[in-house]
Amino acid sequence: MEKSVARVLYGQGTSLNLTSRKIKAVPECVFRIKKLSVLQLNNNSISALPAELRSLRRLAELHLGNNALKELPAVLGHLESLKKLYLFSNQITVVAPEVMGGLHNLVVLNLNHNQIQRLPPEIRSLHGLQHLSLLDNQLEEVPAELGQLTSLTELNLTSNNLSGLPQQLYQCEELTKLYLARNKLTSLPEGIWALRKLQVLDVAGNKLFMFPVRFHLLPLRELHCEGNRFVRCEPMSAVQDAEVLSLKELVARFVLLEDRIRSSLVHRMLPHYPALTALAAAGSCCELCLNPFLTTWLECVHFISPKKDMKMTSVRVVPVRALLCSYKCLNTQGHSYYGIATR
Ligand SMILES: [Zn+2]
Repeated sequence: MEKSVARVLYGQGTSLNLTSRKIKAVPECVFRIKKLSVLQLNNNSISALPAELRSLRRLAELHLGNNALKELPAVLGHLESLKKLYLFSNQITVVAPEVMGGLHNLVVLNLNHNQIQRLPPEIRSLHGLQHLSLLDNQLEEVPAELGQLTSLTELNLTSNNLSGLPQQLYQCEELTKLYLARNKLTSLPEGIWALRKLQVLDVAGNKLFMFPVRFHLLPLRELHCEGNRFVRCEPMSAVQDAEVLSLKELVARFVLLEDRIRSSLVHRMLPHYPALTALAAAGSCCELCLNPFLTTWLECVHFISPKKDMKMTSVRVVPVRALLCSYKCLNTQGHSYYGIATR
């Protein structure tokens, strides 16, 4: 070890490799190498990091995979120059909010193979984060603040205990790869279609029964979705009584429709009523007739064949959620939307 340290101390090196040296603590001489930018400490038995690590003000990469850390050491929160942090295969259970707060420049964070149950909302401080990997942990939920990581291009949450994801995920517009396999997801966030750069999606081994609205608009090149509980297309006849809409819904549909006409009184007056404007913003429109509705719709499904050039595993068509305005619409001929029956 002395040889490697000496070489870095007196040479031009800015990288120190102390991988697999049976180290239990970071040797003190390391803190004297002020120009150090890469420190590799993988495959050792390190269980804590000393405060002196702060003196490495140029440290950009820190490799601590395969060690014995039980939490994110507090000193990491002071390493503001850090861009890549690897902490895979430790025994980390807690991610302290204070540590997240200091890692503004982090681009890669790898926490694979630990025992993390939750992430703090302070994760929002990692503005520049592009790769976040938490493969094989015990996450039961992720905070809504994840949506504030707008530089994120790759997110790996494979093999956790997630039963849902925050709706805010659609704000991560740079996402190109999203790995969610082997969780307990029953649905994906609506609005996920807004991820206009998403190319790879892995949701294999979950409990999904359909994909969210407009899912087929995603520019996916690779979709892994085997081992879910997708609704199957087994058409059967059903008798429906025409729905009776509430007065609120009827008025809302009228207002939403009128609001589309620039010259209408409703369109001109609506901006003067902020509460009504906010309510109207929650409206959506029928996929079939394109007419608006507010809070009452028919939940339907259509079956989409993914693009021919898309890499798919096992499934040929995928069910995608669709919202229709009425039975009248559903009962018209010549479309491929189905109502959903449970048995
Ligand atoms: Zn309709």
